[in-house]
Amino acid sequence: MQWDTLILGGGVAGLSAAVQLLRSGRRPLLLEAAPNLGGRARSFHDHRLQQQLDNGPHLCVGAYHHFLSLLEQIGSRHQLTAVDLPFWSEPTGWYQLSCPDGPPPWQLLAALWRCSVVQWHHGPALLRLGRALRADSVPDDQQSVTHWLQQLGQPADLCQYLWGPLCQAALNEPPASASAALLATVLRRTFLGQRGDAQILMARVPLNDLIARPARRYIEAHGGHLMTRTRVTALEQRSGRISAVITSQGQIDTSQGVPVIAALPLSALRRLLPQWSESTGLHQLSFSPIVTVHTQYQRSAQLSTPLAGLPLNPSQWLFDRQTDPAGGARITAVISAAYRESSWSAQRLLSTVHQDITRLLPQLAQETPVFRIVREQRATLAAWPGSSHWRPVSTTPWHNLLLAGDWTSTGVPATLEGAAMSGVVAARAVVS
Ligand SMILES: Cc1cc2nc3c(=O)[nH]c(=O)nc-3n(C[C@H](O)[C@H](O)[C@H](O)COP(=O)(O)OP(=O)(O)OC[C@H]3O[C@@H](n4cnc5c(N)ncnc54)[C@H](O)[C@@H]3O)c2cc1C
Repeated sequence: MQWDTLILGGGVAGLSAAVQLLRSGRRPLLLEAAPNLGGRARSFHDHRLQQQLDNGPHLCVGAYHHFLSLLEQIGSRHQLTAVDLPFWSEPTGWYQLSCPDGPPPWQLLAALWRCSVVQWHHGPALLRLGRALRADSVPDDQQSVTHWLQQLGQPADLCQYLWGPLCQAALNEPPASASAALLATVLRRTFLGQRGDAQILMARVPLNDLIARPARRYIEAHGGHLMTRTRVTALEQRSGRISAVITSQGQIDTSQGVPVIAALPLSALRRLLPQWSESTGLHQLSFSPIVTVHTQYQRSAQLSTPLAGLPLNPSQWLFDRQTDPAGGARITAVISAAYRESSWSAQRLLSTVHQDITRLLPQLAQETPVFRIVREQRATLAAWPGSSHWRPVSTTPWHNLLLAGDWTSTGVPATLEGAAMSGVVAARAVVS
């Protein structure tokens, strides 16, 4: 096996690094601990529900340029489809934030115009927010979203029905504990970027068919190598470089300065480089959980849209995974920033989610669904105020070691886009 760069970790960051290296004429060898690629964006076969299920439904936006370019490269970009962003709450009923195709900021103005929770009297507050975003004046990194929105005089109902749900969706963190700087970045990139950036995109296939399988095919077809079920257990250091990578399958010599891209989760990197992690303050970074509850009812019922946001309910998002219209309802509920809910019993989670589902589909109220719960305790980096300060850049004190991963300093939240971008940055550093 001939290779010239080692990548540790086969999530989106590692795969993105591998694809970028291959495009630059290098031959990476990627090591992944799990049996499959994909990391936190993966699917699996569930025997009870007899279906491929995602560990959690993933949404993207058109502004995910690095992630979309990765999908383009591996040939699965067409598996994403544009969807509207409808919300429902008891007091408001249905409302939508759906940007028509058009140049910014007109698509946003049109979306707000058509959004029924936006009223004439909100105009001055929206203008203030728009001006703040256009002026490119980054809010203080220590400021919370709640504080920033208050400073910009945003009315309580807009915060509750629009900015709050957008914050929680984009940062996996409620406004009171989310970084205003990160949310401002997301809003600017999404709504004030290029045409198409504000489009919400959802996969029509399980995540493995969107990411892991096509990426594997691309890497193998272009001369790269992959080893799954290969856990990195130690990094040996000598003379300012990583001299060997110790794995569950044996030792790999890198003493000649072979570049190593560690595209590992933060928790894994902390274990491998404890002293450095301590000295650079990586322990200051924390995680935000997501709980996903996949349900399967016998009775047939469909949401009127593929997804629905429920800003005032514990299940903030419901996804309709209906593949067979004649079959029973298949609804997936997502609880993001699930700091409390991730420790709830399965029964409590199910009954909470079932109640939320039956608000929209009352015909299912009498049934107890079959279900599968996925608790991701470390779903994303907690986007707390001040957290960006502790996210490390790609280069490290070791000449041949580069970092990648959604938790590194990308300037965007820990998302598919951040992960893909970090892989490209690390790969470019290798090539240059
Ligand atoms: C439930 C859920 C929902 C989400 N929803 C969205 C969304 O809607 N939109 C969005 O943009 N983002 C979303 N995210 C975030 C997104 O999934 C992540 O930002 C992204 O997948 C992170 O990719 P990564 O490569 O940085 O890390 P990871 O995916 O964690 O990849 C790291 C890889 O390293 C491997 N590994 C770990 N330890 C070792 C070791 N010792 N040796 C070798 N390999 C090792 C792991 O198995 C893993 O494959 C969601 C995440 C979750 C969990």
